[in-house]
Amino acid sequence: MTSHSLSLRNTQLQHSYPRQAGHTQFSQLTVGGPLTVAQWGMPCGTWSFLRAMRLLLRWLRPCLKQSRSKPSKRLGELWLYSKLLLRSLCYSELTNSDVVIDSLFEPVYWLVDNLTRWFGVLPSPLLQVFVCLVIILTSSVLIIVYCCVLPTVISSYPTHWVMWHLCYGHWNLVMIVFHYYKAITTSPGQPPQVKCDTPSVSMCKKCIIPKPARTHHCSICDSCVLKMDHHCPWLNNCVGHFNHRYFFSFCLFMTMGCVYCSLSSRDMFLNAYSAIETYYQTPPPPFTFKEKVFHKSIIYLWVLTSSVAIALGGLTLWHAILITRGETSIERHINNKETRRLKEIGKVFRNPHNFGKYNNWKVLFGVKTRGHWLTRVLLPSGHGPYGDGLTWDWSPQRRDLLAI
Ligand SMILES: [Zn+2]
Ligand SMILES: [Zn+2]
Repeated sequence: MTSHSLSLRNTQLQHSYPRQAGHTQFSQLTVGGPLTVAQWGMPCGTWSFLRAMRLLLRWLRPCLKQSRSKPSKRLGELWLYSKLLLRSLCYSELTNSDVVIDSLFEPVYWLVDNLTRWFGVLPSPLLQVFVCLVIILTSSVLIIVYCCVLPTVISSYPTHWVMWHLCYGHWNLVMIVFHYYKAITTSPGQPPQVKCDTPSVSMCKKCIIPKPARTHHCSICDSCVLKMDHHCPWLNNCVGHFNHRYFFSFCLFMTMGCVYCSLSSRDMFLNAYSAIETYYQTPPPPFTFKEKVFHKSIIYLWVLTSSVAIALGGLTLWHAILITRGETSIERHINNKETRRLKEIGKVFRNPHNFGKYNNWKVLFGVKTRGHWLTRVLLPSGHGPYGDGLTWDWSPQRRDLLAI
């Protein structure tokens, strides 16, 4: 519940319950000020529980209604819908690869939408679970690398390989930690809350403020976000104008780190796997407890880093394609719809935020000179992005020409 509605309820309560000596809870309220949980006199846990129950009841309502209709009728409807969907994908002249990909991803979008809606009612500490999970899993990998992989590398590899492993591994680790920390602590940016001259394209019905171009409302953060890409549960933060670079760099360096760990521990994994297979022979091989822990740790490391490398690698690639096109995840859908709509009337859609492939990357990384590719992309840097996220009627190309 927003502070605005709480304030409203506060005022209503004061009208219906005049101040009395016995009403200590209400007598502490301030006129027009937001009402906090403590002021309600309700413990935080009870408050969260009530919110969760209210959402559960809201969800159950349509389910209860649906359960009254006959299951056979619902199955028939589902079958007809599937047939129609398949035919439209195969025979419609408006179908192209984008439509097919979007349709295939539809269940994923549905899942993400519902999950994010669910996250929206969770109290803030619970949302930190995903952040804690990232930290715990990364720490566990680090412990295994330092205790098992690195000693083996140092004892068995030539000096130049050892040096390479030490330098690359630590650089990658610093980049992961820096970008993750910045991604979770940097605000994505909000539009001005007071009237100003910033050009806007629409009004946000929830915040009741003008929305500049590329700004969207996040239902989880309950605020408008500049150049919103998506709300990331792994960061417990929205990805927007001011932290988009940190998010992408984190994904990229985390993928690189996982690929590095997976490749470095591949031989050790194969040895540990064959060793574990012999555990069940009779008589069992004379492995010590320490050796068994070593084998299992290596298996855990390789499976986890390989899986994350594939999953996160796919996500990073997807975001790299979007950045090259000068789009955010939300704009991808909007632009696709607009492309189809204009195609029907014989016009071609042009993305106004696409400054060219190379320039789009410069905009994301905030690169202004060649040296910035080293100092701002390959080394930790806390510089801000191009522009203020409010206006987009400029391009990095134009800025370069003016500089000359
Ligand atoms: Zn809003
Ligand atoms: Zn958000």
